[in-house]
Amino acid sequence: MGEYVLNIAHMYPDLLNLYGDRGNVLALLRRAQGRGIEVNVRAYSIGDSISEKDVDLVFIGGGQDSEQNIMKDDLIKEKGPIIKQMIEDGVVFLCVCGGYQMLGKYYETYDNKRIQCLGALDYYTKGAQVRFIQDTIYEYDGILKDGKPLTVIGFENHSGRTILGDGVQPLFKVVKGAGNNGQDGFEGATYKNVFCTYSHGSFLPKNPKITDMLLEKALSRKYGESFKLLPLDSEFETIAAKEALKYVQKST
Ligand code: GLN
Repeated sequence: MGEYVLNIAHMYPDLLNLYGDRGNVLALLRRAQGRGIEVNVRAYSIGDSISEKDVDLVFIGGGQDSEQNIMKDDLIKEKGPIIKQMIEDGVVFLCVCGGYQMLGKYYETYDNKRIQCLGALDYYTKGAQVRFIQDTIYEYDGILKDGKPLTVIGFENHSGRTILGDGVQPLFKVVKGAGNNGQDGFEGATYKNVFCTYSHGSFLPKNPKITDMLLEKALSRKYGESFKLLPLDSEFETIAAKEALKYVQKST
């Protein structure tokens, strides 16, 4: 066993995995292994029990309304109390789109069918007929580069409009895209070490600084505040981000 071990819980990968959301888990794996960290990725789906002691970082991807409907009971009734406890204890979470919506209070689909959600975080989502589908650009002031907020590249595809309550903070400021609801100029939500975004699939592969932030938070929580990630080459991620940015800017 290596000196440092990171245990990633991939929640409902058989149901919530739109637009290659699994790529986010691969990015975490690659950038941790690149520093000699041992990584275990374990899938947890309906009927699997989860225990906080086995988990350092949780990933929940996006899904269609129908898939959200299938996993909601397991999430709320079976895993819910443990997930809520993990959130309060500061376990690191990355939740994308449908996974983001499922941690809130409820998601009402565009045809008014209410999907009850976990209610761990203070927001709700209401669907609309017109989906938000586009490449996106955000600013993140949790990481500064030359004193300026980090530019983050994403891709969104959702019917849901999410309205945040006072108990959470927006994650990003929208530069291009619809974000949470197409109205207030914000994207995603954060609370303690939970990071929620509408950005799918190649989100972490294009944003290595966010990947590293999540890894460092998870590992310093486990091994102490003095834990620091070793430097790691980001050549391909940087090229991917630059190309994506060029592409997004061209399409405006
Ligand atoms: N079904 C949800 C919506 O349409 C989530 C979609 C997703 O995860 N891409 O808003």
